[in-house]
Amino acid sequence: MPQSPHIRHLKLPMRPRPLIGESTRGYLLRVAHANGYNTPRQLWKAIRVWKYSGDRLLRIGVRLRRRALDALSGPYPSFCNTHTSLSHCLRNDDYNHTEFRWCPFCLADSEFVRGEWELKLCCVCVTHKVLLCDRCPRCDSPQAIVRNDVARCACGAHLALAKAQPAATSLIALHELLIAYLNGKRLTSAIEVTPEHWLRMVKYFGQFGLAYSPKRPGQVAALHKLSNALAITTATAHLLLKWPQHFHALLDRLSAPSRDSMSISQTYGRLYRSLYVDLSAPCFQFLRDAFEAYLHDHWFGMLGKRNRRLGADTIERHPRKPLHVLARENRTGKSVVKHLAHAGAIEGAAIKHASGRTTWAFPTAAMLQVKECLADTLNLGQARKILGLNKRRVHELINDHLLRAWINPDNTKSLAWSLSKKDVQTLANIGISRTSDNLDEGKDWVTLRRILKGWRLHPDEFVAIIRAIQSGTLQSSRKSEISKGMCEVRVDANQVREWLCIRREKAQLPMSIDAAAKLLGVKQQVAYELVRKGLLATVLSEDGTQRGRRVHQHAIEAFQKQFVALTDIARAHRVGVRRALNEIPIAPICGPRIDCLRQYFYRRCDLMGLRFNSNLELVLAELP
Ligand SMILES: [Zn+2]
Ligand SMILES: [Zn+2]
Repeated sequence: MPQSPHIRHLKLPMRPRPLIGESTRGYLLRVAHANGYNTPRQLWKAIRVWKYSGDRLLRIGVRLRRRALDALSGPYPSFCNTHTSLSHCLRNDDYNHTEFRWCPFCLADSEFVRGEWELKLCCVCVTHKVLLCDRCPRCDSPQAIVRNDVARCACGAHLALAKAQPAATSLIALHELLIAYLNGKRLTSAIEVTPEHWLRMVKYFGQFGLAYSPKRPGQVAALHKLSNALAITTATAHLLLKWPQHFHALLDRLSAPSRDSMSISQTYGRLYRSLYVDLSAPCFQFLRDAFEAYLHDHWFGMLGKRNRRLGADTIERHPRKPLHVLARENRTGKSVVKHLAHAGAIEGAAIKHASGRTTWAFPTAAMLQVKECLADTLNLGQARKILGLNKRRVHELINDHLLRAWINPDNTKSLAWSLSKKDVQTLANIGISRTSDNLDEGKDWVTLRRILKGWRLHPDEFVAIIRAIQSGTLQSSRKSEISKGMCEVRVDANQVREWLCIRREKAQLPMSIDAAAKLLGVKQQVAYELVRKGLLATVLSEDGTQRGRRVHQHAIEAFQKQFVALTDIARAHRVGVRRALNEIPIAPICGPRIDCLRQYFYRRCDLMGLRFNSNLELVLAELP
């Protein structure tokens, strides 16, 4: 056993130079191999310099100069007892002490350990744009970081034969930020971070892109495993891709469950803390800028003046105003502003706190909206006067949102109505623009006033007529340009009747017997006679104001299924009515010769299988 030499006399016979980018552990292995030892530990034992540090061995034993020594990256093996500070302010914990990773192409080029392979979070070879490997290509076993042979598994397989997967472009771009810095290059990139900050960014920012969240911020378990490291670096790369689009999408997702929350820290909790505490370094300002830009556009609540984290400018420019500011600047009461918000006249969000308190936040645009609403207001009496309508009709317009109510006493317990003056004027002038187009004197013009008075409209038909006039579905005119008020608008009586008839048919409301006659294609008198004879079923009007009997749509269908008019049979067979009557060998159930009804009708079942004298079969299917 040789005596431990004094360190000053130590000079190893073989002194290989470090390669560019080589790791300390990899270099020590090469030094050991060059001097006939299997492992660095054997070399260490043999020269018995354990009271000296690893870097001292390299400086004196291999005669490495300081610069060459500094170019080596990564920690010394644990038995070296060396606690030199690691380059780029990295910590021992940032390095992998368990599993070995490699790029098969790099390894095929030259058999030495690249410094970045030993970083826990490095998963990509940026030169070959592939993911690093961590399993033997033959026996699939993980490779220990302490190795006797850099390029071979214990089973003898060459690690350069491992199949490398291509890496995603975003992942390569993320790794380039790290590797370029490690190699002393400067990238012209929007994101400029030191390796120390790069690792921090992946751990504290990338974690929010993971499907699960680590128990403690930044402490992702088992990063020495390639799969875990790959998950978090991929998540980081995704968040940084299309900056800040994906990050903003993450913020959207985080804010979704607590839409009503007023507190930023409640909504964005740990991310908020990470951005402002864990990632407080100036190089992460781009993260905070993107976060604050998102708040500016999407945070519907207020930003507290006392918030110490957010930039003063962000708070100052935040486009939300509290209730009292909105009220004060418009010289109105807070309750008025609240009513306007309730009515949907202005945008605004009421946030209910756990304490039961409610706070309001309004976008800057609401300031102008309040002003406009306040300038555009009438009370109910004024509106009625201008429109010339009774209370009930005005309420119908309000309920149908044809007339907007800024303040509705029914909803808000406030005393006075506030209605939109603009809407009132629009309604009062309905049909004016069409005056010149429709001076067709041949038409049977009727004013809205007469319709309202005498037509017995169904409950929702008044507003429907107004909407139809507004859209131009119903033609309208006015006697003269100066005729004022809503009720002076004139419509074509026939068109309105027909339109109402179709509408009622669609709505399946029981219709008047007149309307039923129209649908059946018979004269009104015939329809009344059919009702009297009990052939067409009717119901009593439910509405007390609408007297008389009414016909349901299904009653009309039932009648048509059961009976057919002689005129229809004649038309279907292209013969005259008189000839059809003479040739059909059975008697109709009603008609002029039978019971003074003005039209002949047959029962469809009576006609089954019958033939005309002319041997034309009665094709019932062809009948209407
Ligand atoms: Zn490579
Ligand atoms: Zn193997």
